[in-house]
Amino acid sequence: MSVSAFIDLYSDTKSKPTKGMREYMMSVEVGDEQKDEDNNVIDLCARVADMLGKEAAVFLPSGTMCNEIALAVHCRPGDEIIAHETAHVLVSETGGPAALSGVMVRGVRGRNGIFDGTMLKDAIRPESRYLQQSRLVVVEQTSNFGGGTIWPLETISEVVSVARSNGLILHMDGARLLNAVVASGISTKDYAGSFDTAWIDLSKGLGAPVGGVLAGSRDFIQQAWRLKQRWGGAMRQSGFLAAAGIYALDHHVERLAEDHQNASILARGLSELPGIKLATINVETNIVFFDVAGTGRSPAEITAALKKKSVGMGGGGLFGPTAMRAVTHIGVTRADIIAALAAMREILNG
Ligand SMILES: *Cc1c(COP(=O)(O)O)cnc(C)c1O
Repeated sequence: MSVSAFIDLYSDTKSKPTKGMREYMMSVEVGDEQKDEDNNVIDLCARVADMLGKEAAVFLPSGTMCNEIALAVHCRPGDEIIAHETAHVLVSETGGPAALSGVMVRGVRGRNGIFDGTMLKDAIRPESRYLQQSRLVVVEQTSNFGGGTIWPLETISEVVSVARSNGLILHMDGARLLNAVVASGISTKDYAGSFDTAWIDLSKGLGAPVGGVLAGSRDFIQQAWRLKQRWGGAMRQSGFLAAAGIYALDHHVERLAEDHQNASILARGLSELPGIKLATINVETNIVFFDVAGTGRSPAEITAALKKKSVGMGGGGLFGPTAMRAVTHIGVTRADIIAALAAMREILNG
């Protein structure tokens, strides 16, 4: 295995299309997706709808648009949605729920990005003419800022049951749902089947350049399509991109296990370095969060030093004042992980 020129652990969004994916993308016939004339888009949507146990799906330019369109279809202005306080929809979508749908977000605490049925119950607003109405629950599988943690199936069942008995809609942000599936052996349908809507991201660990696929009932998807048009997310010969997604589903799912192994090796190595404290003892999937307060250096200093050694990681800013994050993906080999650890060791011992 050769060591890549720059080892980019900033995010799995840094994954690039493989040679096989590029070749497949260039080989397909394409048409106008808005006229339902692109068979790649049609096939990809049918496939993801089936995987997630839904009637239909729509191909969108990003996962963010999957979340924001879902909220806009499900909610009315003044409604409140419930999500973990670190959820992407709350911390990384520029206030989209408020700006685009007039929706408030109630952030729920819970260890490692996960809350349970009781916590959900406590967050639901009682019926009152003074209060905004609780409308929908978001489950982020896996939890990004929780450290790639997997919502256990029992916790999901609890949350689903509390949500249903209180008339709430259920939406799954499945940006990394397939990481959870590969790590746990539990199927996409078992995780997402009881949700009204769910989506997967193609541009993270799956290695496609662009896109997310949002699934739900036929009626929901029809309404989602209107917003896709209105917000400028309707594309034309997007079959090249859908083809990348189809290729990823065929070739890049099982291999996510390698990313999980690499993350685990990285975490073990980091935990042996002076002053570094892992956020979660067990790394369940492909994300490693760690605290560097004990090193006497700031994340900015460490990331700058790493960059000089051709290693990219996230730190500070949105990750937290003393937190750093490393994410493994298809563009990072085992040798890269060893090299990244060596770089970190030199920096902290130097
Ligand atoms: C990356 C991410 C998104 C947004 O996906 P994009 O395709 O980057 O817009 C949403 N939710 C989670 C949990 C993510 O990690």
